[in-house]
Amino acid sequence: MTTLNDLTLAQARDGLKAKDFSAVELAQAHIGAIAAARSLNAYLLETPERALEMAAVADTKIAAGEARPLEGLPLGIKDLFCTHGVTTTAGSKILETFQPHYESAVSHNLWRDGAVMLGKLNLDEFAMGSSNETSAYGSVISPWRRTGSDAPLVPGGSSGGSAAAVAARLCLGATATDTGGSIRQPAAFTGTVGIKPTYGRCSRWGTVAFASSLDQAGPIARTVRDCAILLASMAGPDARDTTCADLAVPDFEAAVSRGVKGLTIGIPKEYRVEGMPAEIQALWDQGADWLRAAGATIREISLPHTKLALPAYYIVAPAEASSNLARYDGVRYGLRVPGRDIAEMYEKTRAAGFGREVKRRIMIGTYVLSAGYYDAYYVRAQKIRTLIKRDFEEAYAAGVDAILTPATPSAAFGIGEKASADPVEMYLNDVFTVTVNMAGLPGIAVPAGLDAQGLPLGLQLIGRPFDEETLFATAQVIEEAAGRTVLPPAWWA
Ligand code: GLN
Repeated sequence: MTTLNDLTLAQARDGLKAKDFSAVELAQAHIGAIAAARSLNAYLLETPERALEMAAVADTKIAAGEARPLEGLPLGIKDLFCTHGVTTTAGSKILETFQPHYESAVSHNLWRDGAVMLGKLNLDEFAMGSSNETSAYGSVISPWRRTGSDAPLVPGGSSGGSAAAVAARLCLGATATDTGGSIRQPAAFTGTVGIKPTYGRCSRWGTVAFASSLDQAGPIARTVRDCAILLASMAGPDARDTTCADLAVPDFEAAVSRGVKGLTIGIPKEYRVEGMPAEIQALWDQGADWLRAAGATIREISLPHTKLALPAYYIVAPAEASSNLARYDGVRYGLRVPGRDIAEMYEKTRAAGFGREVKRRIMIGTYVLSAGYYDAYYVRAQKIRTLIKRDFEEAYAAGVDAILTPATPSAAFGIGEKASADPVEMYLNDVFTVTVNMAGLPGIAVPAGLDAQGLPLGLQLIGRPFDEETLFATAQVIEEAAGRTVLPPAWWA
């Protein structure tokens, strides 16, 4: 029997409309599942009272025939989005008690459309990480395990709580953010779908900043259609974020069933990286075959500056982070550790409030922005960024509609396997995703199969600026061809 938690967001929406169940029942089913899954550490804060209140309002709206687009649909919110009066930590000790006096634009849009808030989801501290092991509140455990093993695996990061909660049916969908891959990589690790829209599609207002020229919000959900439905609500113009595009939001859900007939899909040869497992290559070839069979033309393309993206990203992102995080000074809000004078207070607060990875980024960022090194590092990284962007522009100008790549260079790894060793090994996880942020393009990760150990693997599609519609259409073809990933049974409950 399908429980209410197993429904897709689209099915739940239709079931509510048909009055098969109520929004309160749907919320209760999720509240129960969350309480039974605390060992996964996906939620940092549960807001069951608020969920039930919002669900009761939704039921009245549905009864009155006034249902809004997301009426009564329970969601989880990455704890990087400020929620009015609800603690927002960014996964950091420095914001442990921070209660925003405002609502982020993205979460506001979701509530405006009738969605129900279940709580705040765990993440890497300030969204810095690829495994959700840098959270000050502990690692998130993936609902997935290797066949025949109960070793705990990472759900990916930084939106690890979002991906784990969606895969474990602890919400119908979740908000997430992606600065270098934090939506797509955890989606790929957990057999879920995640889209990072074009830079500027969603407002960044009220989302805790990591690297402002790269940060974008987007959804993680269990199907391509569910992501389309959520993004349509999350996106839209906002005068409070000057980088937010003043563009109408297309009907993303309608684009899902468009198909790929007549589209040209590029396969970039530079993404065939050394040491990539044969299984990933096979999956990539399989994806191209599926799209060809559905009527697309497959064409090999070249994005020559790809190999420079990762080193350039790890200059640009820490540089912006070091500047953004200067605001946590113990003066206006957040943690304060007293000192003899203001300088000592400032030092003690930041020493106690930030974790190792955040400190590492602040130090790298400060270094690359310093007078003697600015030209050697930061300016050069920005030039590389322009070249990466140009590679994509040339491919699109030559008639490519979307680009197919693997989402990650491997399946999920074990907790502790990479965190303690060389941080660069962790950074290598982002090799296929950071290019997309550097170029400001939309990218979607869609599950495409399981590896030999029974873990999900994802493919990534990269689109033209503001053409998320083609990504939804193309990802849907892959989802249908691959068959929806069967999510793990609830061993944790
Ligand atoms: N893993 C990358 C980093 O640590 C990307 C994180 C993100 O997209 N927020 O910077």
